[in-house]
Amino acid sequence: MIILEKIHKKFNDVKALNGITLTCEDAKTTVIIGPSGCGKSTLLRIITGLIKPDAGQVKIYNQLLTGKILYDIRRKMGYVIQDGGLFPHLTALENITLMAKYLKWEDVKINKRVKYLSDLTHYPEQFLGKYPVELSGGQAQRVSIMRALMLDPDILLLDEPLGSLDPLIRFELQKDLKNIFSELKKNVVLVTHDLNEAVYFADKIVLIKDGQIEQEDEPGKLFANPKTSFVEKFINAQRSHINIVS
Ligand code: ADP
Ligand code: MG
Repeated sequence: MIILEKIHKKFNDVKALNGITLTCEDAKTTVIIGPSGCGKSTLLRIITGLIKPDAGQVKIYNQLLTGKILYDIRRKMGYVIQDGGLFPHLTALENITLMAKYLKWEDVKINKRVKYLSDLTHYPEQFLGKYPVELSGGQAQRVSIMRALMLDPDILLLDEPLGSLDPLIRFELQKDLKNIFSELKKNVVLVTHDLNEAVYFADKIVLIKDGQIEQEDEPGKLFANPKTSFVEKFINAQRSHINIVS
């Protein structure tokens, strides 16, 4: 379980996060949504420990996320960012297996895991030797997802993983991701700015505005019972998309 308590984070005079208290449950998908610049990526990076909050605390599996345990806890997290963040000078396979090699996993174990992940993510094994520049956006994201899952993390963090894909590829990868989430039953935190995508994935939607949570609810309840006028506006602005796809 991930517990954020009263998290504040400022960049110069910009309040990126302004008192976020949030619990992300195991085996559930928590979707963080909100307008551009509302603090979604900052929130995810606070969970990874990549940046430290100015105030408040992060507890992961009952441990405070501090420098001492950061290294161990980071291995329990897979992190996927919008453009994939693959190392361009490494092949798909080298990207995926980098950490496992660093941790001196045996080749047999590595190969078995890669085979399993290629099947899971529907990534063609014959493309494992390709470099990121040779991959389509969708393929590159499948590689990023495999890399994030390689060490079998308890937590999977995804920051707009489908944001830069064209609609058809995006739709395909959405379906595959949803299957992956339900098969693996990890603690998934996914960031998006697309309400349609949020509804599709979420057990719980967390709508953020200006670094604060406006509403945190199951998708159905968010729609039935928007708690603020901002939530209502946000829903109405994106409603047309929802009718088309669902
Ligand atoms: P989102 O992911 O919701 O679009 P971010 O979390 O990236 O939003 O950013 C929240 C706010 O914090 C924005 O105003 C952004 O410009 C600012 N910000 C984020 N990271 C930095 C940084 N490293 N330095 C300065 N400002 C930042
Ligand atoms: Mg962002």
